[in-house]
Amino acid sequence: MSMRPQAKEHDKSYYVYTYGCQMNVRDSEVIRGLLEGCGYHAASSPEEASLIVFNTCSVRHSAENKVYGKLGEITALRRKDPDKLIAFGGCMAQLPEVRQKLKKHNVDIIFGTLNIHELPGLIRRAEEGQHPVVQVWDKAGSIIEPLPSKRSGGYSAFVNIMFGCNNFCSYCIVPYTRGRERSREARDIIKEIRELAQAGYKEVTLLGQNVNSYGRGLDEPIDFPDLLNMVSEVDGIERIRFTTSHPKDLSDKLIDTMADNPKVCEHIHVAMQSGSNRILKLMNRGYTREHYLERTMALRQRIPGVAISTDIIVGFPGESEQDFLDTLDMVQKVRFDSAFTFMYSPRTGTKAAEMEDQLPVEVKRSRLHQLTQLQYAIALEINRGLEGKYEEVLVEGPSKTDPSKLTSRSRTNRIIIFSGPDDIAGQIIRVKITEARTFSLFGEIA
Ligand code: SF4
Repeated sequence: MSMRPQAKEHDKSYYVYTYGCQMNVRDSEVIRGLLEGCGYHAASSPEEASLIVFNTCSVRHSAENKVYGKLGEITALRRKDPDKLIAFGGCMAQLPEVRQKLKKHNVDIIFGTLNIHELPGLIRRAEEGQHPVVQVWDKAGSIIEPLPSKRSGGYSAFVNIMFGCNNFCSYCIVPYTRGRERSREARDIIKEIRELAQAGYKEVTLLGQNVNSYGRGLDEPIDFPDLLNMVSEVDGIERIRFTTSHPKDLSDKLIDTMADNPKVCEHIHVAMQSGSNRILKLMNRGYTREHYLERTMALRQRIPGVAISTDIIVGFPGESEQDFLDTLDMVQKVRFDSAFTFMYSPRTGTKAAEMEDQLPVEVKRSRLHQLTQLQYAIALEINRGLEGKYEEVLVEGPSKTDPSKLTSRSRTNRIIIFSGPDDIAGQIIRVKITEARTFSLFGEIA
């Protein structure tokens, strides 16, 4: 470790780059809260900022390459302003091979997903001239409560209910970058949600890699459906969403709670990944296509109009034409409202990356194309079925694509664009669907 010339006292401002999933979006809100707690304020651009933070994602190498590209730009920027500090965190920072690689990028601070709360102290050490300051925990400690956060505004907020994952799907790096599953105490979650309601938020999305296993390891005997019911008792919160559910832990109790609790929205994201039992086994997913089908049918029987979204990977090592056809068959049987679809890409450090029979990219690309064509057609058909019908929506504000219109989200997690006065932002209203597209709907105030 060398001593860097002490940064001249100047306007302490930050700029945060966020990559990846909702968990990272929420972590960036905490990072901003911590920075504002130690005298930094938000800069409008990296050029302006005295501290640039990378909150990274390592789910695929393509995600990492994007980060290295931006890091190259920022280190070039720092050559013009040597006092700038660069902090590198998130899932990539948890990986030893990445920390090795970062040496040549000369970043000032490296912190991990398990010790975000230490950031203020690490920055102080860098400001005092230590370089580089590297502090990454490879084992999770107890959950720090409460942590400050600077939220991104709006009427819908993300709330972490648990961290980490114990499932070790063979293609996934998350258990290595986010540690073992640990649930927050229900009282801390409820306290946070009460504060959100007082701040005017109408909707919360409960976050976890596998929310269905919430409560395991807590002294208090509580599970995820119990928590949903507790959250629904918070005055001011009108809607509750959650992500992500693992099919193997999708219980009847959860389905009943979704059906009976009017505040829990009729949408669930249940990652299927593949429709082939042979591939599900190789993925170490812990369920069969029959189980997945039975759970989605149970959802539909118990919750009319429930929207089901999913994640699907094609081109997993060894995936035969028949395995792929099994996936297409499941997509036709389940008829997902929407799906995130991916070509398998080997992720160093995972079991699947070591597997034989890695498929050629042309095969993966052609299968991804066939899958998306099928899924988009199904999504459009389902959306067309909503034309002329009414949906309850939370008005989020001006649409990004057409600021003269308002954007909103239905209980089934559909984006609905319509014309209306700006001052209804934050309200829950009814709209009539006038036109359907694959990824969004258009409507008018009912
Ligand atoms: S459930 Fe599987 S895919 Fe999801 S985070 Fe855990 S290991 Fe990764």
